[in-house]
Amino acid sequence: MSRTVAKAIKYGSEEIPIEIDFGRRKNLYINVKPDQSVIVKAPVTETLANVMKFVRSRAAWIFEHRLRFKHTAARALANDYAEGGAVYYLGERYELLPQPGYPYGVGLESGSLVVDAAPDDAELIRELVAHWYKVRAREVFAGRLEHCRVAVGIPAEARAALRVRKLKCSWGNCSSRATITLSPELVRAPLGCIDYVITHELCHLRHHNHSRAFYSLLTSAMPDWRDHKDELERYQAG
Ligand SMILES: [Zn+2]
Repeated sequence: MSRTVAKAIKYGSEEIPIEIDFGRRKNLYINVKPDQSVIVKAPVTETLANVMKFVRSRAAWIFEHRLRFKHTAARALANDYAEGGAVYYLGERYELLPQPGYPYGVGLESGSLVVDAAPDDAELIRELVAHWYKVRAREVFAGRLEHCRVAVGIPAEARAALRVRKLKCSWGNCSSRATITLSPELVRAPLGCIDYVITHELCHLRHHNHSRAFYSLLTSAMPDWRDHKDELERYQAG
């Protein structure tokens, strides 16, 4: 039982598109995404006029958040798949080195990420690197999940399962069946950022929302989570 309505608000000379999602929930809240899109989650019982009134009253806040993400995106640590371009793994910067016939397919060698492809075969380079990220992500995330599970105090019997799959607009999510899905691209970021995402999702095993109780659990498991969250924003663009 959910429906989506597309609207827009004006702030100064700027027109900001708004997506309103009516669903079964109690509260009305606004979420500004790193890609600057604005999603409003509204209770299905609320009228569109009331929702828009609320959104307009928060126009300055929305504007400021979008502006912040715009600046963040400008300094994002995006991968550059050209020969000699910068690619990231665990927060370290490597130089992309295409080398046809490289026997390991993809591998790290003294500051370079060597890829078995011709320099002008951008599509193959991307594909090979994406596959390598996925393989590395599975191994790294599994180890960090165990570490973070202990920090949050989730018993081993809870059997939190891990899945690595590309996600559209987030780094991770947690299903009610205790399956934590993480985006393979998260492995580009430093371990602290990876731990932050995993810890966040593990806290959802206890609290299926972003309530005060959720954040107090997150803070007790990882007191400096905000720093890692801020750092992670730089890795947004894969
Ligand atoms: Zn969450």
